[in-house]
Amino acid sequence: MLLEAKWLIAPGGKLLSDYSLQVQHRRVVKIEKRRPFLSYKDMGPGAICLGLINCHTHLWLSEGHRLRETQGDFLSWTRDVIQYRGTLSREDILRGIHRGMKESHESGTYILLDIEPMLLDQDTRDYLEGPLIREEKGPWPNVRLPFLEIIGRIPPGPALRFIAKGGKGISFHGPHTVPPITMSHILESLKGRKTLYTIHLAESELELEFLREGKGPWADLMAERGHALDLLGPFGGSSVQRLKEVGLLSPNTILVHCHHLEEGELDLIRERGCFVCLCPRSSLRLHGIVIEIREFLKRGIPICLGTDSLASAPSLSVWDEMRYLLSHYPYLSPGDVFSMATTNAAKALGLEGYTLLGSSLSSLLYLDCQIASADPLASAIFGASHKTIKWLGAQDAL
Ligand SMILES: [Zn+2]
Repeated sequence: MLLEAKWLIAPGGKLLSDYSLQVQHRRVVKIEKRRPFLSYKDMGPGAICLGLINCHTHLWLSEGHRLRETQGDFLSWTRDVIQYRGTLSREDILRGIHRGMKESHESGTYILLDIEPMLLDQDTRDYLEGPLIREEKGPWPNVRLPFLEIIGRIPPGPALRFIAKGGKGISFHGPHTVPPITMSHILESLKGRKTLYTIHLAESELELEFLREGKGPWADLMAERGHALDLLGPFGGSSVQRLKEVGLLSPNTILVHCHHLEEGELDLIRERGCFVCLCPRSSLRLHGIVIEIREFLKRGIPICLGTDSLASAPSLSVWDEMRYLLSHYPYLSPGDVFSMATTNAAKALGLEGYTLLGSSLSSLLYLDCQIASADPLASAIFGASHKTIKWLGAQDAL
């Protein structure tokens, strides 16, 4: 089958005009300039591109919209989330994940890194041995990569074996919520395996204060939750220092938020080849922070994008995240933000070859909108919506 549209968005956000795709067995096998006299399936005046990649979300919170509306600071929001989590059954969590998958699909996300809550048996406080949520599949073709979330101390033994059975990766909640000994045990038990890691890093002043001094409002919350504070020490250092000491600064790690980093820490992150995932709308809602992206770009630190959850961001659309960036950061080009949501994100997730050539039909979008030739990529980004996004793999698409 030969497919064409007026525009094709290539990696890096380059717009190609009048190109066609040759598709065999639902896979793109050739991309070439449109040839006269050949018969094409013409999609229209819009653009074909790869689906986007969301590198940080918590789909289980997809029914927790009301948490976004609550007033108060980050600490009270955190308390609200903990309280909300306590009211959810396994079925509620599953429903949230399915709702999030549906919204992600409708908003043009093909792959998403989803932080999966660890389920504990309510009676024994032991780890469930039954089927994990990661086994559940929805009717959507988008790909969910579950990263099991670790909070607090995990004792060696059965729990570690449970974790080792895990999926694509591990999410340590944060350097202020996971004891270094637990991080070390898990890194050691997964040594030699291709495991990806992600962690919220330097997200709040509370986190920094706690790691520096071992006290403050965050210490009070952890103690209240039954965490042994001495295990979260030694105190006196920074979030980045903690990660360096446990060996988590590597190209296999995605650092999320990174609101409060010193110059030297940024240099270290660059040297170690880590990826940084920004969730700009969530940073604004929860912390009132407009991230200084220039500092990352200046050093060549690869940036990818996440939406965070519906408990802090108004949608799970990565296009919305890109539009927010283009509207608030005059120094970012449409190509910069498109790369964050595609090429950089694919590298962060170790997905070689997330490119148009060789891609499956189900990973491709057609954006059914008017594209202005003056700035075609910007108009594609601003034209992408639930109404204009069409998945080429969908039954009625072709
Ligand atoms: Zn998060």
